[in-house]
Amino acid sequence: MNAQPLHYGLPISAKAMEVYRRLLGLHPIAVDDAISLTPLEMLVFAILSQRTTHKNAQQAFDTLRQKFPDLLSLCDAPIHAIESAISDARWPDLKASYIQNSLRHILGWRGGELNLDHLFQMSSEDASAWLERLPGVGRKTSASVLLFSTLRRAVLPVDTGHRRMMMRLGLLRPSASWDKAHLILQSQLPRDWSQREFETYHSVIKKHAQTYCDATQPRCAGCILKDLCLHAQTRLHPRPDHAPLITTKRRKSSDQTHPTQMCMLYD
Ligand code: SF4
Repeated sequence: MNAQPLHYGLPISAKAMEVYRRLLGLHPIAVDDAISLTPLEMLVFAILSQRTTHKNAQQAFDTLRQKFPDLLSLCDAPIHAIESAISDARWPDLKASYIQNSLRHILGWRGGELNLDHLFQMSSEDASAWLERLPGVGRKTSASVLLFSTLRRAVLPVDTGHRRMMMRLGLLRPSASWDKAHLILQSQLPRDWSQREFETYHSVIKKHAQTYCDATQPRCAGCILKDLCLHAQTRLHPRPDHAPLITTKRRKSSDQTHPTQMCMLYD
């Protein structure tokens, strides 16, 4: 007997897969097989990506690598020089500190070696836990290092748009913490998925969150998921006793709000 809760007649994992099936047809994304970033390089990139567009993170990363071709030199570089190199990313002051302190920690913990090669020998759970001891590294950042670097692990990073959309669809409780969100959403996907399948899934969900499931003005009327979506049902067919399930206020001042004033940067 299937004990999973039903969602519009579907068990929750079947609903998650139906969402994916539809979105894959709508956003046919070809992921790049040529993963070339080492875990250490990906760690730096993932920190730069926190609450920053991919384009800006890439610009910041490219400039940083031009100015500091050897990551070891970042350990002793003046912090303002790192901050200036990554100015395309949001909150360069905080991220410069995260990057430098993370690299210094790795150097110390690895006995003078600046690499993350030991993660290749670890399980994904242990590798995540190791990474999350570093400054500025939470579950999304550690999952990004595992998925997108040459580690090529089958794990799911969950970013803000992904989490919002899953809550609206009813696949994630609004009360779920970030760590729980990663566990819950990954558990809804097939256990035998490869790294490539997780990367494709992540890209497709991200694309839909950006193009349809906007934080303040989701395009529910034209959304291919509206018949599966709790938020759309309350929004498109409101009843007096129903309020929209997830209303996300865009922080108008988000560009200015320094993350030290928020609970987490990496969410
Ligand atoms: S129906 Fe609306 S709220 Fe639901 S996933 Fe689509 S855009 Fe988002």
